[in-house]
Amino acid sequence: MLYDPLKSRGIPAFHEFGTASYWAAVTPFPDTNAIALPSSAEVVVIGAGYTGLNAAIEVAQAQQREVVLIDAGGVGAGASSRNAGFLLPGTGRLGYRDYAKKFGEQIAQGVQNEFAASIEHVKNAAADSSWPCELIPARYLRLGHSEKAASVLREQQPAYGNTLLTAEWLSPEQQQAELPGLPWKYGGLSLTPAAAVNPRALTAAYLSLAQQAGVKIVTGHPVTAWRSNHGKHQLTAGGREIQCHQVLLCSNGYLPQQPFPDISKRQFPVLSSIVVSRPLNAAEQQYCGLTVNDLVMDTRTLKYYYRLLPDGRILFGGRGAVAGKNADNKVHRHRLEQALAATFPQLKDLYVDYFWSGWISVALDAMPRIFSPALGVFTSAGYCGAGVAFASLAGKRLAQLSFGERMPALPFYQSPLPRYPLAPARRVGLRALYTWHRWRG
Ligand SMILES: Cc1cc2nc3c(=O)[nH]c(=O)nc-3n(C[C@H](O)[C@H](O)[C@H](O)COP(=O)(O)OP(=O)(O)OC[C@H]3O[C@@H](n4cnc5c(N)ncnc54)[C@H](O)[C@@H]3O)c2cc1C
Repeated sequence: MLYDPLKSRGIPAFHEFGTASYWAAVTPFPDTNAIALPSSAEVVVIGAGYTGLNAAIEVAQAQQREVVLIDAGGVGAGASSRNAGFLLPGTGRLGYRDYAKKFGEQIAQGVQNEFAASIEHVKNAAADSSWPCELIPARYLRLGHSEKAASVLREQQPAYGNTLLTAEWLSPEQQQAELPGLPWKYGGLSLTPAAAVNPRALTAAYLSLAQQAGVKIVTGHPVTAWRSNHGKHQLTAGGREIQCHQVLLCSNGYLPQQPFPDISKRQFPVLSSIVVSRPLNAAEQQYCGLTVNDLVMDTRTLKYYYRLLPDGRILFGGRGAVAGKNADNKVHRHRLEQALAATFPQLKDLYVDYFWSGWISVALDAMPRIFSPALGVFTSAGYCGAGVAFASLAGKRLAQLSFGERMPALPFYQSPLPRYPLAPARRVGLRALYTWHRWRG
């Protein structure tokens, strides 16, 4: 059974993360060198994923302030070690046209450039770290699942010309030539820069940078209470107390309903699940056409995403269960197995060796936010399942915000995450959405 942020009574120490992932099985991880909880610190960062690690590195290294990083589980216990490893120049939900419609052309360009900058940020960090994270340059292929969806993508292509992104139209003929294994061929957009990474190794790379920067790391300590008095904060973690001047909350979709109920109502924890197939042989790989430099996502509302892993397996992901208690149910594994088989119909006996799930944080308007919900408290969330690149930069920005640095004039930094109007009914809506799509087929 998986820890459930909306149902479990608080986040347990070394909480249950569901079935072990492929990444956990194949990736060596450095010793965390965790310490006992100190009684005070200048800054406390809650959550040791990409956001928290990057925030802590910035606080310790650039700002030279004392920082304690606390996680309920181990380092990278949340989504950061369980994702698909797509470094994307966007969220996968909104494209240039959506931003331009909402904020105007100039802001839309700024938003896309900030996403491009987040990839650069990850690449630089990976180069600075001595820990290898298997980062491979790639193209992000958004493939239309219907003729209509592909034509919408095609219309968007010229607009990217004013940004740091390169968007190329992949015609149905090109798609047929390059990815012959896929049964639908409507074409799509190829976006760069993008990269493929081993997400757990990336966590390890950030951990090694955090250790070098002198970040103090405390694991197995759920933060269960927060009290604030005239800008001073007292946190209870693992039954002990720590005082600090600032709190940087980096808990993503794993945030329990307490001790920050207001922030919990501003995001929606949703499960995403992944299966990893047996390794394909050389002939099968050639037949599919998929290479390790392709990161594919379709345009469905409930989209599927897939990539070829360096050892020849296919990683294939999509939506998971609604509630944590059902995350490991074989129904959800079976649904992904069926979708994988339908995507590569010529590959026979494409059995699956791994299946796991993790929580993503969904913002009401699909825009992540970095903001200060209370005096001396700063948070970043709402990545909508696309935070490998952006969460890493967001962690750095969060630390900069806490230090009073000016943020870029972009919507990520100018308002809090909007509150869900009927927060307790979030799952009712999600169930209805899933049922509707199952019914439509
Ligand atoms: C299956 C799956 C596939 C994905 N694939 C991709 C992808 O290919 N590309 C992409 O860009 N994004 C992807 N994502 C999303 C991406 O992984 C996340 O956006 C990113 O990892 C967020 O990092 P984070 O540091 O904010 O959060 P997390 O890594 O989730 O870390 C949050 C941490 O906070 C801790 N925590 C929470 N509450 C407390 C508390 N009260 N006390 C102490 N600790 C606490 C948790 O234990 C956890 O370790 C995927 C996510 C999932 C689940």
